[in-house]
Amino acid sequence: MFVSDTYDQAEGFHAITNCLPEVTELIICNFSVVDQTAAPPGKNVIALATQLDYACYDEWKRHLPLEDYLEKREAIALEYVHRAERLLPGLSDHIEVMEIATPLTIERFTLNPRGTILGWEISEDRFLDLDSMVTPIPNLFLAGAWTRGGGQSNAILSGILTAFRILRQRDSKPQQEEGSTLLIPGDASFASPAGSQ
Ligand SMILES: Cc1cc2nc3c(=O)[nH]c(=O)nc-3n(C[C@H](O)[C@H](O)[C@H](O)COP(=O)(O)OP(=O)(O)OC[C@H]3O[C@@H](n4cnc5c(N)ncnc54)[C@H](O)[C@@H]3O)c2cc1C
Repeated sequence: MFVSDTYDQAEGFHAITNCLPEVTELIICNFSVVDQTAAPPGKNVIALATQLDYACYDEWKRHLPLEDYLEKREAIALEYVHRAERLLPGLSDHIEVMEIATPLTIERFTLNPRGTILGWEISEDRFLDLDSMVTPIPNLFLAGAWTRGGGQSNAILSGILTAFRILRQRDSKPQQEEGSTLLIPGDASFASPAGSQ
């Protein structure tokens, strides 16, 4: 659920670029709706999120001592909980565990530049690059968010395209130079790499 206090998109964007977390759009997502094992019965995993320019956090990183950073981070998280309570009254009384992440956290755990959650920019060139899964090493292919652009749909699509690419190569070039046997699960040669069955 996306919760915005304004219908003016320019105002929302201004809040993102000017580091105003108390104004930016709030995203409320209950993961337990799609995964009932995410939390014990009767409980839910709820994420509250927003978008904010990395520059806001870069400032924190450069100028704030760790304790101040953690304090500020928690204050903003509680502000989000407070905002969410307009739609989920009493939410704060039911929180048992709360984890807080900023782009600095994501940068630290994923090594994604500037804490981006999606990875590379999804540019037209990259998205349409049908060779993004190919590497200079024969029969080594790539799949995932770092090939065509980030995000779950892109990662899934890249897996499908890579599988098709492998199958196409297999069908157009049945077997190959010495030392570069293409192994595909399901093939007889997969169980017996030397193909000598
Ligand atoms: C906080 C957050 C929120 C997000 N929200 C969204 C969203 O709302 N919508 C959206 O579309 N995308 C979202 N994304 C992005 C999306 O999750 C990623 O783009 C996508 O999961 C990437 O898929 P992937 O398969 O390339 O990599 P991953 O999902 O990262 O999978 C890589 C796997 O490889 C494993 N691995 C790593 N190293 C090794 C190793 N040496 N040996 C064996 N295994 C290894 C890892 O444990 C992991 O399971 C979000 C990301 C984050 C961090």
